Amino acid sequence: MTAAAETHKCTVPACTRQIPVHRLMCRPHWYQVPKPLRDLIWATWRSGAGVFDPQYRDAVRRAIAAAGARPPGKRGLGARTAGRRRHRA
Ligand SMILES: [Zn+2]
Repeated sequence: MTAAAETHKCTVPACTRQIPVHRLMCRPHWYQVPKPLRDLIWATWRSGAGVFDPQYRDAVRRAIAAAGARPPGKRGLGARTAGRRRHRA
């Protein structure tokens, strides 16, 4: 048993960020995933089947593809989603 938070690498292949194990991918990538797909992943995950559910695995695969397709560049994110979130790198 470990009290410390465990981490793993972001599931997007090109990404090297370390994130808590209960997260699928790092925040910048997660927000690249279309919301319906994010909702689907959460819903499937919460059903209890988790990673053993084929539907979940398929949703994850699509999410990773969606996130990996558009790398969260500092410029790219800022232009269209500015206003809601403020973060400076
Ligand atoms: Zn990432």
